[in-house]
Amino acid sequence: MPNLSTNTPTAELQAVDAAHHMHPFTHGAGLADKGARIITRADGVWLNDSDGNRILDAMAGLWCVNVGYGRHELAEAAARQMRELPYYNTFFQTSHVPAIALAERLAELAPGDLNHVFYASSGSEANDTNLRLVRTYWAEKGQPQKQWVISRWNAYHGSSVGSGSLGGMKGMHAQGGMPIPGIAYIDQPNWWAEGGDMTPEDFGLERARQLEAKILELGPENVAAFIAEPVQGAGGVIVPPETYWPEIQRIVDQYGILLIADEVICGFGRTGNWFGCQTMGIRPDIMTIAKGLSSGYQPIGGSILSDAVAEVISGCEFNHGYTYSGHPVACAVALENLRILQDEGIVERVRDETGPYLKEKFEGLTEHPLVGEAKIVGMMGSLALTPDKASRSAFASEAGTVGYVCRERCFANNLIMRHVGDRMIISPPLVISREEIDDLINRAWRSLDEAHVLLKEQGLMQAAVSN
Ligand SMILES: *Cc1c(COP(=O)(O)O)cnc(C)c1O
Repeated sequence: MPNLSTNTPTAELQAVDAAHHMHPFTHGAGLADKGARIITRADGVWLNDSDGNRILDAMAGLWCVNVGYGRHELAEAAARQMRELPYYNTFFQTSHVPAIALAERLAELAPGDLNHVFYASSGSEANDTNLRLVRTYWAEKGQPQKQWVISRWNAYHGSSVGSGSLGGMKGMHAQGGMPIPGIAYIDQPNWWAEGGDMTPEDFGLERARQLEAKILELGPENVAAFIAEPVQGAGGVIVPPETYWPEIQRIVDQYGILLIADEVICGFGRTGNWFGCQTMGIRPDIMTIAKGLSSGYQPIGGSILSDAVAEVISGCEFNHGYTYSGHPVACAVALENLRILQDEGIVERVRDETGPYLKEKFEGLTEHPLVGEAKIVGMMGSLALTPDKASRSAFASEAGTVGYVCRERCFANNLIMRHVGDRMIISPPLVISREEIDDLINRAWRSLDEAHVLLKEQGLMQAAVSN
């Protein structure tokens, strides 16, 4: 039995990892060949790995470490709560102070009459809750046939059977019997890839009106809800045209369809406001939260319901919940995380200072020959790589080939930037400083340059034949 620690040689850690640890969204053979990168410590926006590299984490882990790494207040909040009450459930008419205090705080922060919190331990769980919740809502209101939920292709709402079905990731649907019945999909508002000759404004309206067409096709009396991320995250940071969300809001209002805003990434400052729905000017009936709620220091998620929805659900026994719904340690850490975001003015700083600064620098990357467009809202952004800017062409190679080459150059330059197909994405900790933003942009330039050289060498700068 090896006694593993951060002092164990990397190769040994990698061998044991490959032998026993199954990784999410990872090809096992590739991992065994290359070995996993092993992260040992982190502070602010910086990760250290077992080989002694210092890496700029422009993804905030998985979009979640909003206050940055190494915040001792959060460790102390957890330790304090573990000593006092490490666990108790919230089933069967019991409660505890952390769950109560966090719910009150979330009701204060959430816009409008979103005042009621149902806890989960992740975004996937929270969206599973939402799926059952919206159907239960309509059944309780005497419209049990209102069951369909409409989502979008290339949306990401989680990885459980329910939330993965709500999502529109075809690669996920292809495995394990998804999607479950009762979920319909419309196209995403990705103008760069799918907008053809339309202006972004016309395209935004066209994509929003697909919702209206789908509602009419299914019958408004059969549709429970529409779910969407204010800005698609895992789908490649797709920022919709400005015409999109107002039209969606008109449609859900007109047909009496509940709107679920999946704020798992957009929430807690990511877009420069507390919630993405505020940035996009929409009024959801339910918000999904997770990730930045605790800055990833504890697994916690939830659904925030409007007064009207909560009133109906409270009128029945909703036979649903998780052992860890409202886990006291997770709630205590989330509460402390929200205090840090508030007291340090982090959301305002993203909106007024570092966000605009990052936007200017990030948009400057469009001067690079590989970059067709740069889209950014607050601190989530993406670059569309292209062999031909004027025609917005895709590459002739399989989607993701070029993105992967670029991602590997980023890794080599100790910059964590992800690729989704041939889009490069960032979502740095919200506490990133101006100097660190400069550093991020410099490393991105260098990585793009190196990728460009390799792509030319490998003959990968070919445009796909447009259809
Ligand atoms: C990450 C994510 C989820 C799933 O959250 P998990 O905590 O991984 O289950 C759901 N929705 C969105 C928008 C996400 O980005």
